[in-house]
Amino acid sequence: MSPGIRALVWDENGAHVPRAVYPQGIRGALAGALAQSGRFQLEPAHLDEPEQGLPPARLDAAEVLLWWGHRRHAELADGRVAELVARVHAGRLGLLALHSGHHSKPFRQALGASGDLGGGWDEDGGPEQVRVCAPWHPVAEGVQDFELAAEELYAAPFHVPPPEAVIVQSFFPRHGKGFPSGLVWRAAEGRVAYLRFGHESCPSLHHPMVQRLIANAAAWAAGAQRRQ
Ligand code: ZN
Repeated sequence: MSPGIRALVWDENGAHVPRAVYPQGIRGALAGALAQSGRFQLEPAHLDEPEQGLPPARLDAAEVLLWWGHRRHAELADGRVAELVARVHAGRLGLLALHSGHHSKPFRQALGASGDLGGGWDEDGGPEQVRVCAPWHPVAEGVQDFELAAEELYAAPFHVPPPEAVIVQSFFPRHGKGFPSGLVWRAAEGRVAYLRFGHESCPSLHHPMVQRLIANAAAWAAGAQRRQ
């Protein structure tokens, strides 16, 4: 059996993440999603560690970086971002940003975009209906349409470059608004993926379809399917 995909699972170590929803924090939930698939070697990391959890040796050892931040984006040192994005663009490190990671420095700089939510947002988004749009894509493998009971609304347009594929699209019936919740891009020689799920007060990261999307997107961003 081949060794697992080396995934660095980073979050901002946010004190506001409710432990009742995510007892191990967001990075713990993301690591749990990857562990379900049995395809990964996991390395958890966070902002309050030495070198902000991203020392060069750790980045060199990883094939994909999962990124969740919300309130602490500005604390990430610009030099570190440049180092990280250079690895992404060189195809040495895939990037998977989740939820509020749309406004993180690595995601914005990797895509050269603002990542702004043109249609706004609302923490009280109500139910979220998720439809698979690209069943042919490896990130959609094993994913069926699903519904989350309550999520934060993000509303289109999403200010990012045109993606290679829209994997899933969300509709929030209470608001009558939609958002492309699963996107993948080629960025220079590298790969970048985005999944909208993961608002800290909603348990979406425990949902089996969301977990499947996370594992598939991480594997795709790592370029892992090229080795199969
Ligand atoms: Zn949120």
